[in-house]
Amino acid sequence: MFCRFVSIVFQSVAKIELSLGATPTRHESAQSNGSICCMAIPGDEFVQHTVKAQTVFQGVGLHSGKPVRIVVHPASAETGIWFRRTDVTDRDPMVPALWHVVEQTPLCTRLVNASGVAVSTVEHLMAALAGCGIQNALIDIDAEEVPILDGSALPFMDGLTRTGLRKLSAPVRAIRVLKPVTVEDGQSRATLSPSDVMRIDFHIDFVDAAIGRQDKSLVMNNGTFARELCDSRTFCRQADVDMMRRNGLGLGGEPGVNAVVFDGDNVLCPGGLRHADEPVRHKMLDALGDLALAGGPVLGHYTGIRAGHSMTNALLRKLFATPGAARMVTCDDTTMANLPGFGLHRGEIPRVA
Ligand SMILES: [Zn+2]
Repeated sequence: MFCRFVSIVFQSVAKIELSLGATPTRHESAQSNGSICCMAIPGDEFVQHTVKAQTVFQGVGLHSGKPVRIVVHPASAETGIWFRRTDVTDRDPMVPALWHVVEQTPLCTRLVNASGVAVSTVEHLMAALAGCGIQNALIDIDAEEVPILDGSALPFMDGLTRTGLRKLSAPVRAIRVLKPVTVEDGQSRATLSPSDVMRIDFHIDFVDAAIGRQDKSLVMNNGTFARELCDSRTFCRQADVDMMRRNGLGLGGEPGVNAVVFDGDNVLCPGGLRHADEPVRHKMLDALGDLALAGGPVLGHYTGIRAGHSMTNALLRKLFATPGAARMVTCDDTTMANLPGFGLHRGEIPRVA
C-alpha cells in the first residue's frame, strides 16, 4: 500500500511539473522573522512544511449531515495533500487534492479519483492548509464530506497551528502566473494575472439588502489569511436553504452554528456577523482554498466577480491549458514572503465566542 501511495504521489508531482515545464533551481534559505513556521528553529523557513503530529477534527458534513472524523497526518516532502477514505475498502481510497480531479458541483468543491471515490467540501480545510503554509499532509477521512465545523476555516487554523509545523528538506515550489487568463459565465468572471505577490480581489452583489454589494482586496502574505479571512463563515440565502433541503442537501446546516443565512434585510444568525462584510471575506476564503488545489501556492493576482467554486476550478484548468500561462518556480526568500502562510503568528488568529 505504501509503495503504491508513493508511486501515485510521484506520478502526480511529475505530471504537474511536466505540464508546467518546471525547472527547479537550488534552494537558498534565509533568516527567521519569527513566524509560526520557524519559531522553534530559526532560519530556512522557505522549505516545505507538514504538520508536526496527527491533528484530529470531528463534526458533521454540511450537505450530508453525517458525522465525520478526519486525521491530518504528517507527510514527507513532495507528497502534496492527499485524502484517504478509511471507510472505503473495495476501491482505491486515495484522493489527491488537485484541480484535475475536481468534479463540477455548484455548492462545494468535490474531488473524485479514477475509481469514483469522492471527498467533498474540501475548500475550507484546503484554505487553512494554504494559510498555514502546509504543502504536505495525508488526511484520513471516514466519510465522504469534510466536517463543516463552524462554517469557516478558523477551527482548522486553530487545530493545525496548535499542533505546529515541521520543516522538510525540500524547497517550496510555487506556480507563477505569467499571462492573464479569464473565465466568464454570464455576469460572473474570474481572472488570474501576473503579480509578484499573491493578491485576492473579490466582488459580490446580492439582491438581499443584508448582503448587497461587497468588495474587498487583500495581499495574502504576512498572516493576512489568519487575521482577515479565516473566521468568516459560509453563507447562503433562505431561498437557497429551501432549495437545498428539497434536494437533500444542506442537511447539516444550522444558522449561527455553522452557517450564516440571509433573508432580504434580515441576518438569520444568532450572535450576528463576525464582520460587516463577512460574505465577501468568505468568498475570498473559498477562492484561496480552491486555488490551493493547483498543486502548489499560486503566485498571482486572482480577481473574482460573483465567482464560485466551479469557476475558480475552470480558471485553473484554463491556466494550465494555456501555453506559457504559468510556470512552476522554486521559491527564494522574496517569493516566499509574498505567499500565504509566511509571517503567520498563532496569536493573530481570531478568537470567537
Ligand atoms: Zn465556503
